[in-house]
Amino acid sequence: MAMLKTAASLSRLGTESAFEVLARAQSLMAQGKDIINLGIGQPDFKTPAHIVEAGIQALRDGHHGYTPANGLPQLREAVAADLQRRHGAAVDPDCVVVVPGGKPTMFFAVLMFGEPGAEIMYPNPGFPIYESVIKYSGATPVPIELREDKGFAFDADTVLAQITPATRLIIINSPANPTGGVTPKAEIDKLVAGLAQHPHVALLSDEIYSQMLYGGREHVSLLNYPEIRDRLILLDGWSKTYAMTGWRLGFAVWPKDLVADVTRLCINDHSCVNASAQFAGLAALTGPQDAAAEMMVAFNQRRTLIVDALNSLPGVRCADAAGAFYAFPNIAGTGLTSREAQDLFLNEGNVATVSGTSFGAWGEGFVRFSYANSAENIERAMERIRKLL
Ligand code: PLP
Repeated sequence: MAMLKTAASLSRLGTESAFEVLARAQSLMAQGKDIINLGIGQPDFKTPAHIVEAGIQALRDGHHGYTPANGLPQLREAVAADLQRRHGAAVDPDCVVVVPGGKPTMFFAVLMFGEPGAEIMYPNPGFPIYESVIKYSGATPVPIELREDKGFAFDADTVLAQITPATRLIIINSPANPTGGVTPKAEIDKLVAGLAQHPHVALLSDEIYSQMLYGGREHVSLLNYPEIRDRLILLDGWSKTYAMTGWRLGFAVWPKDLVADVTRLCINDHSCVNASAQFAGLAALTGPQDAAAEMMVAFNQRRTLIVDALNSLPGVRCADAAGAFYAFPNIAGTGLTSREAQDLFLNEGNVATVSGTSFGAWGEGFVRFSYANSAENIERAMERIRKLL
């Protein structure tokens, strides 16, 4: 038997349970069970055809080699133009770094700032990878508690009050996974104003759901605050907006002074993003936007459907899900813990969801439902859960 000695840091690395739920749901499906998957955080739509064609064409045209580590120049320029169009913010294409998905930016940002003795704040309940990689880096994770009665928006005063001399980085995410919460502009204004007193603190704004807001809400990008541009890492990407999760394509806008460092991390890690995916991403930004818009119309209909249905279940109440494609109902009134609810829904009801505690300790009492599934399946899933409760 081998006697391998792995690094202690490995035991601090967490995971994203949605992938485990997906694996379990798939294995139940393989056994012939009629599973309705409301567990996974990816659009159920196909990547629009013109984007797929651009990727194929790039391969046919011989784009088989390495690209610059920070991304193709024309793609970085298209990203900057898109950010100008969407947020009215001027972005230097040399500050755009293209990476394989949304996740690498958070990993690199945390590696850059995290070490023993450092503190990093992150939303809780929030995307589980934040807490995981903070712990991995050796830094102390400091949760920003997101509360149902605040619509799962962060509270700027609470965030500012938690800053210490050891704070290096604050991670925020709006619209948010798993709650669908959207932070109002007033809180963002207050956070940015307060950060003036703390020039040692960097900000990572995860805006991967920036084009997924409902009910006439408009996204407030942190790019719109020039006073923090020298410490803002803006994370966004193609995965959700263009139904491109499997292509592995994302980007971030970095402070000018950190671009060389993050590019070195890219070179050490993955060299560059695969070339054809970058050409597909270029077509996504410069081509017609109607497929993305149609997807949002469908998501909005399903959102109303699922929020209403959840609110009609005994012991369940669900806040208006303002963004992304998740509903995050409070299930405490059912008498079940989050994990018990997840297991009951999957094992007895054949409906895959994700326990709120998969997104941090403050997720207890909640379950995440992704409505990236057809209206018909959402209705069937709700009926199954109604019978169980
Ligand atoms: N950020 C948030 C808040 C997410 O929910 C996700 C994916 O679920 C990501 C980032 C990562 O996206 P990607 O699949 O592009 O790495």
